[in-house]
Amino acid sequence: MAGALRAAGLTGVDDSVRRRAEYSSDASNYRVVPTVVAFPRHVDEAAAALAVARELGVPVTCRGGGTSIAGNAVGTGLVLDFSRHLNRVLAVDPQARTAVVEPGAILDDITAAAAGHGLRFGPDPSTHARASIGGSIGNNACGSRALRYGRTADNVVSLDVLTASGERLAARRFGRDGLAAAGPAGVALDALVADRLSLIRTEFGRFTRQVSGYSLEHLLPEYGADLAKFLVGTEGTLGLVAGATVRLVASPKAVALAVLGYPGMPEAADAVPGLLPHRPVALEGMDARLVQVFRARRGADPRTAMPGLPRGQAWLFAETEGETEAEARAAAERLIADGGALDATVVTGAPARVLWRIREDGAGLGGRTPADAPAWPGWEDAAVPPSAR
Ligand SMILES: Cc1cc2nc3c(=O)[nH]c(=O)nc-3n(C[C@H](O)[C@H](O)[C@H](O)COP(=O)(O)OP(=O)(O)OC[C@H]3O[C@@H](n4cnc5c(N)ncnc54)[C@H](O)[C@@H]3O)c2cc1C
Repeated sequence: MAGALRAAGLTGVDDSVRRRAEYSSDASNYRVVPTVVAFPRHVDEAAAALAVARELGVPVTCRGGGTSIAGNAVGTGLVLDFSRHLNRVLAVDPQARTAVVEPGAILDDITAAAAGHGLRFGPDPSTHARASIGGSIGNNACGSRALRYGRTADNVVSLDVLTASGERLAARRFGRDGLAAAGPAGVALDALVADRLSLIRTEFGRFTRQVSGYSLEHLLPEYGADLAKFLVGTEGTLGLVAGATVRLVASPKAVALAVLGYPGMPEAADAVPGLLPHRPVALEGMDARLVQVFRARRGADPRTAMPGLPRGQAWLFAETEGETEAEARAAAERLIADGGALDATVVTGAPARVLWRIREDGAGLGGRTPADAPAWPGWEDAAVPPSAR
């Protein structure tokens, strides 16, 4: 396989034992050793790699930051890593509020490129400092600010896609032109939708976080026959994203963080409907276990020393906005008044950033297997090994 890829003109091809071992994992518990890893330098190289894989019948897994937690970014065949070379933000259009990006562009880099115009890329999974746009499109990433800015699908304008059969698609909202305007793949999808109209209309797109599986509702005429949005969340199974035009949103001028404490997660969840009318920019729930993990692993670091949390065993973090910090704080106080919390506080600036890191780092730290983990299965849930019971 490596030889065939090199013969097809790819320069960054690596099938060494070390490289394959490195790419055998993502942020999940799965281990799948690939046959070969390639680092395309431009879209033509990615297309050439796809052609070789098609000819040899080798499965292809695309990869950005590799932060997926369900084995999404590992595979047995060819892994195409876009994060090394195809990682640029090519253009930012402040009038249209869009950015043109390569698939390996990191989310924070897109936001940094747009920041001078008071804009940002809306969705921010906790891994925003290392997650790529290609992977976020693959997973339909959401994050704490999805409440305000929507999912990645809501923030994609068009996609440049290479299909397994070698077709290059300019995927966008086709509206009245209909999906057939997208070429042979569009014609096939149009027929698929026409055959299953009632199923798609009744079962798909029923709630905003229905992000698993294929979001066929986007192909419906009433959704604008949006092939780009449909492809978001398909985890590279329908094609390789070679480029994207994404929507940018206005960054809040000032924000404050309301932290509300509850006896447990059910009480915290029950309080959420009361908070939504305040239109928080971000809303996130955290329980005591996540906080414990963060304290245990990061507590000693003065840069991440946690400000005191309000009383409780579960917390809601709600970010509010305003023209000034005082306005944002006042909005946070109004939200707290409707929160029914045991206890609450408002923080801004550096302490607020530290509190957000509980969510950002805690989930990753909590998912890590400790170096001194027992060697018997089921240790995560039981204190005593089966042999000693
Ligand atoms: C600690 C932690 C916290 C997280 N928090 C969140 C969160 O708050 N919200 C959230 O939504 N997710 C979260 N995630 C999941 C993950 O970080 C995000 O989904 C992230 O956006 C994935 O980006 P990536 O570049 O790492 O993608 P990868 O893991 O590299 O890839 C993701 C998927 O996209 C496919 N893919 C990658 N590039 C392309 C391409 N060019 N073309 C086609 N398909 C491609 C891959 O094959 C894979 O199926 C979290 C993960 C961790 C470890």
